[in-house]
This record gives sequence, structure tokens and C-alpha cells, in this order.
Amino acid sequence: MNGDSIIAKCQKCGTKNRIPRNRMGETPLCGKCKTPLSPRTMTDKPIDVTDMSFQSEIIGFPGPVLVDCWAPWCGPCRTVGPVIEQLASEYAGRVRIAKLNVDENPQTASRYSIRSIPTMLLFKNGDLVNNLVGALPKGEIESHLNSLLN
Ligand SMILES: [Zn+2]
Repeated sequence: MNGDSIIAKCQKCGTKNRIPRNRMGETPLCGKCKTPLSPRTMTDKPIDVTDMSFQSEIIGFPGPVLVDCWAPWCGPCRTVGPVIEQLASEYAGRVRIAKLNVDENPQTASRYSIRSIPTMLLFKNGDLVNNLVGALPKGEIESHLNSLLN
């Protein structure tokens, strides 16, 4: 993976565009159909979601999403944190990677019956498809992400 650019998939025609990181602050256009590529799908950092934004950012997102449910006091969550950051970079433009602070967002935590953290929720096109509990090794998380992409 080239660290100087990310792949952003066009929401309209599906073309994969390579975007240099130093242009991510602008709004690049799809090389094929000229549709603006949404900056929100291009981020290479995990996005923070809340009870308020969960519906639009996760359920309403057309594609694969991983939500890392965590809390500041949780030791294993701090282990997973850097892995989530790496995955956000490596899967930029392919899988939306999000973080949900369960202490601050109890409605969503209760809706998905999150009893132990870290828990990773995997969605595809708004449907919950998997629920990974515990601080899993990076390779295992990747294999789940890859299956979301197939
Ligand atoms: Zn396009």
C-alpha cells in the first residue's frame, strides 16, 4: 500500500480513484464520471460516531462499516485503538472505520446489547452482519473486513 495516497471508490460509478493524501482536504472529482468524491468516505482516520449521528453515518452508509465500541477506562480498548487507526488508513475508501464511546452514547450501546468492550460491530449497507467481542488480533479483524468486501 502506497502511504502517500488512498483509494477512494466513486459512490456513483464504482471507479476506484487514487487520491494523494495532500489533496484530501480538497474535493477531488471521480476520474471517470466527474462526480465529487465525498471527503467523508475518503478519510484515513476513524470517525467518531454518537447516538445522534449513528443513523446517518453508519446505518445510512452504502457500504461496509466497522464500528469499534470502546470506553476510555477500558484497558483492552487501548490495545485495539492503534490497530483501528491502522485499519482506517489501510482500508481508506473501502471500509468506513468508526469509533463509538459507549459511555457517552448509551442508546446505541443498549440497542446493540453491548455488554463487554471492546466490541466491533460490522455493518454492510446498513445491516449488522457481525459482532466481534474482545481485543482481536489485527489479522483476524482484517479477515472479517475482507469478507465484508467480497
Ligand atoms: Zn465515478
